[in-house]
Amino acid sequence: MSLIQQLVTLHRVDSQFRALESRLETARTTLASQERQLEVLTKQTVDMRTQERQLKATIHSLEVEVASSVTRVEKLRDALNGSANEKAYKSIILELKHLEENKKKMDDQTLGEMQRLDELQKRVVDQVAKASERQRFCDIAKSELTERQTEVGVRLEELRGERDRAASSIPEDARKAFNRAADETNGEAMAPIAEINRRHREYSCSACNIEMPFEAVLRLTSDLNTIYPCRACGRILYLEDALRETIGPAPAKK
Ligand SMILES: [Zn+2]
Repeated sequence: MSLIQQLVTLHRVDSQFRALESRLETARTTLASQERQLEVLTKQTVDMRTQERQLKATIHSLEVEVASSVTRVEKLRDALNGSANEKAYKSIILELKHLEENKKKMDDQTLGEMQRLDELQKRVVDQVAKASERQRFCDIAKSELTERQTEVGVRLEELRGERDRAASSIPEDARKAFNRAADETNGEAMAPIAEINRRHREYSCSACNIEMPFEAVLRLTSDLNTIYPCRACGRILYLEDALRETIGPAPAKK
């Protein structure tokens, strides 16, 4: 078998292998993207929960302060009635005034913090809903990946074996050139020549449509043991048997 025939055989297996593998890869990429989004949402939820705890603690300590201020006011009111003299009376009145003012400030602050807490808690509810929706997408992506793995896993391994066998008889430099072309073209390492017009000797690369000089096409009919890549797209060019027989000499026997 000529090198080109061996490469065409390898190409048939390799392109099937790559197509299946890319289906798995797509499923993997989808899952990874869903997981990343879920991770961001989860981290945001944790941050919001921390803020929520801090706000609750602030509100609690404000409430404790207000309660102790109320107790102090009650005590001072009692003391007011029993105050010994004018000076003591005035001093109690002054402290009461100060306590009342302070309590009003704390009440306003508490109200503000409670509003913030209320808003935050609404956002937490939204966030949790978003995260659970994203979790659902993640689960779907995960089960799709598992499904594809079961579906194509066996076939993929078969193709891997076939590909290795097809590649084993090909010289290393040709194999490397093939792999390079396949990597650069998403698994379309080879392209047959297309006949545009026989009378005018017009031929092109069937993958990228660039026109091929007739001498180059002739070379492909006679030399089946050299790799001629397309100068535009880099795919390894070949002639399908039917076309080769109509335009060129019979291929050299192996
Ligand atoms: Zn091309």
